[in-house]
Amino acid sequence: MGKDTGFIEIEKQAVPRRAVAERVQDFREYDAPFEIPDLRKQAARCMDCGIPFCHTDCPLGNMIPDWNDLVYRGHWREALDMLHSTNNFPEFTGRICPAPCEESCVLNAYYTLDETERGQKKNSVTIEQIEKHIAERGWAEGWIVPHSPTKLTGRSVAVIGSGPAGLAAAQQLRRVGHEVTVFEKDDRPGGLLAYGIPDFKLEKRHVERRTEQLRAEGVVFHTNCEVGHDLSVAELREQFDAILLATGAQFARKLTTEGRDLEGVHDAMNYLPQRNRMVAGADIPEADRIKAQGRTAAILGGGFTAADCLGNLNRQGVNPRIHQFEIVNMQPRPTPVHEEADPDCRANILTERLLGDEQGRVQALQAVRVEWKPIAGRMTMERIPGSEFTIKVDLVLLAMGFIGPVLEGLLHDLGVQISVRGQNELCSPAEMIEQLREREAMYAVHAGKDFMTSEPGVFVAGDAKRGASLVVWAIWEGREAARCIDEYLMGATKLPTTPQAEALA
Ligand SMILES: Cc1cc2nc3c(=O)[nH]c(=O)nc-3n(C[C@H](O)[C@H](O)[C@H](O)COP(=O)(O)OP(=O)(O)OC[C@H]3O[C@@H](n4cnc5c(N)ncnc54)[C@H](O)[C@@H]3O)c2cc1C
Ligand code: SF4
Repeated sequence: MGKDTGFIEIEKQAVPRRAVAERVQDFREYDAPFEIPDLRKQAARCMDCGIPFCHTDCPLGNMIPDWNDLVYRGHWREALDMLHSTNNFPEFTGRICPAPCEESCVLNAYYTLDETERGQKKNSVTIEQIEKHIAERGWAEGWIVPHSPTKLTGRSVAVIGSGPAGLAAAQQLRRVGHEVTVFEKDDRPGGLLAYGIPDFKLEKRHVERRTEQLRAEGVVFHTNCEVGHDLSVAELREQFDAILLATGAQFARKLTTEGRDLEGVHDAMNYLPQRNRMVAGADIPEADRIKAQGRTAAILGGGFTAADCLGNLNRQGVNPRIHQFEIVNMQPRPTPVHEEADPDCRANILTERLLGDEQGRVQALQAVRVEWKPIAGRMTMERIPGSEFTIKVDLVLLAMGFIGPVLEGLLHDLGVQISVRGQNELCSPAEMIEQLREREAMYAVHAGKDFMTSEPGVFVAGDAKRGASLVVWAIWEGREAARCIDEYLMGATKLPTTPQAEALA
């Protein structure tokens, strides 16, 4: 274990962050690095619990107590090898994972110190920071290098989508010798890591560094290629022995209230990718730019996407009072960007109408407070009469969550079966498109325990299979799907599995 008495002697240290006044001036990451001696002290707090809940609650099965101990003793290289044995991309999860491991850390139960800083997980070991610094040490020392396969199998796999699920699967499959081609409809690989999650959470150089590693290992990337449009399903079937769908779940929930189509009302997933492109130096035509400077903004939603909108708006110089409304009975998740702006965050708010001016530009938002009551076993929303209010806004960003993968094109043409939340029967993508015309529902591509869809040789992983989720789950899904594909192609596999994740799933 770390230091026998470390958990008694050493206090938890808050994550070092750049000063707010400085970080809102740029798009670089808001976390600052730990001093290494401090970090080793933090690792020394680990008690090496008999039942390490941190490990069992990590979807990837990261061997947390073991690498905490290695870091405390200064054995960084061994820590890196251990971390990589369960996680292809620890520098991603070390930055942006909500860290269920820290929620579960036994130290939280023994000490109930007040949360000294918003976003800190009580008294847990600072697991996520240790993970990030192990990975960064590996890059700095030149220990992270390509691992090309020593023997080729002659089998080929098409991975469609280059988010964390697609990248993890591609790396696992290549390392056991398959020809792996990743198709991506965007102009660069990374999925939501590249065109969703802002640079102030994850700078894009980290994503580029990993895709370069995959390229050097022999993974081929075709960007600007939408399968189902630029390449037909028939061509795909003909050219590859197996197909992995890692297309994400980016079909967003729609706002159905009056005023939805006014100028100045945007889906978050139009706004955020545009911001990331501009931060990367792309020249977006003036007419297409979503302008925020000097505007009064409202964000509808309370999750990651909403918080990422907030952080971008702060950095673009909107009017300081940003409104963030969440319809359910849950305050928007506090994140470092909430410290930057002190937004007007409210739960239980239903937006009823957006009002426009004579030019069709949004100018106000009408809303009402609601309460949630269990009626006939279901939480049901009720308006609170008299609580209606109107605020002036001239920019509205819709970040109300995602309902499933895009059905048109690829999934429709493949004809893979779709499962709908709350329904026992599967349906075809065409039937699902029809259902969505009638009512909203959450859905995903159906697969068995072997990650295979209803179509032989076609597998699915990540958000496309489990619905909108987390990067850590996407990496797990990619790794597990790769193992199943290898077994399908070769009859047996030596790729590792993480059985406890199945229990968590
Ligand atoms: C704004 C935002 C912020 C988030 N922040 C966090 C966070 O802080 N921490 C966290 O853990 N999770 C976060 N998430 C969730 C996380 O990003 C996702 O769970 C994860 O990226 C899913 O990975 P994936 O590989 O399944 O899909 P994605 O990352 O969605 O990648 C799918 C890729 O497939 C491509 N594609 C789709 N169809 C085709 C086609 N027909 N042909 C070719 N390419 C195609 C898409 O262009 C995309 O690049 C966030 C999500 C959003 C939207
Ligand atoms: S639960 Fe916390 S203290 Fe226990 S082994 Fe895991 S990180 Fe260490």
